[in-house]
Amino acid sequence: MHHCMHCENTPCANNCPANAIERRKGGQVVIHQDLCVGCRTCQEACPFDVPVYDQTTNASYKCIMCYDRVESGLRPACVSSCIGDALISGPRAEVVAEARKRAKRYSEQFGKEYIVYGADKINDYVGRTGWMTIVAAEEMEKYGLPKNPVVSSMALRQTCKTIGVGASAAVALGAGAHFLYWLANRKEVLAAREKEGGHE
Ligand code: SF4
Ligand code: SF4
Ligand code: SF4
Repeated sequence: MHHCMHCENTPCANNCPANAIERRKGGQVVIHQDLCVGCRTCQEACPFDVPVYDQTTNASYKCIMCYDRVESGLRPACVSSCIGDALISGPRAEVVAEARKRAKRYSEQFGKEYIVYGADKINDYVGRTGWMTIVAAEEMEKYGLPKNPVVSSMALRQTCKTIGVGASAAVALGAGAHFLYWLANRKEVLAAREKEGGHE
C-alpha cells in the first residue's frame, strides 16, 4: 500500500459508483466509510495502488489527510508527531515553497537533481497532488512515483461491468492545500544534517 497522494483530479472519486469519495475544500480526498459499498473500483482507478479493502467492514480505506483535524485548525496527526521535521503541512503555496527550497539544497549537496513530485501537474489523469514528495529525479520509479501515472481503461471498464454500474463524478472542487512528505534518501539527509550541525 502506498500513501494517498490526494490527487487534484481524483480518479478514484470519479469512478466510485456510490459517490463515497469526496475531495474537501482543503484538497483532502476522503472515503466516507458509511457510503462505501466495498466494490473496490477505486483500487482499480488509483494509479498509486492506494485504497485497501477491509473484508470485515466491506469498505475501502486510505489516508484521509486528517481532514477533521485540519478543518479544526490542527495539523495532521503524523505531521504533529514527526520529530524530524520530515513532514510539513500548511497552505499549498507555503508547502511548495519550502519543498522547492529543500529540493534545491539536496540537489546541490548530493550532486543530483531533486524534484517535488506533485507540485506541478503530473498529467491529466491525476493533476497535481496534495501530498507531495521530494525525491531524486532518477529514483522516482523506485519510490512508486511514475512519470505518467495512469491505469488501463480496460481494467476500469471491467470493474464497472462486474459491479453493473457506470462511473460517476463526486468531486468537490476547492482551493488546493497541504502537505509534503519528504522521501529522499534518509542516509544522505542525516549526513547533511550532521555536516550542517543543525536542522534539516
Ligand atoms: S492516490 Fe489514489 S486514492 Fe489517493 S486521491 Fe489519488 S487516485 Fe484517489
Ligand atoms: S470501494 Fe467502491 S464504493 Fe467504496 S470508495 Fe471504493 S469505489 Fe467507492
Ligand atoms: S495521520 Fe497522516 S497518514 Fe494518517 S490519516 Fe492523518 S494525514 Fe493520513
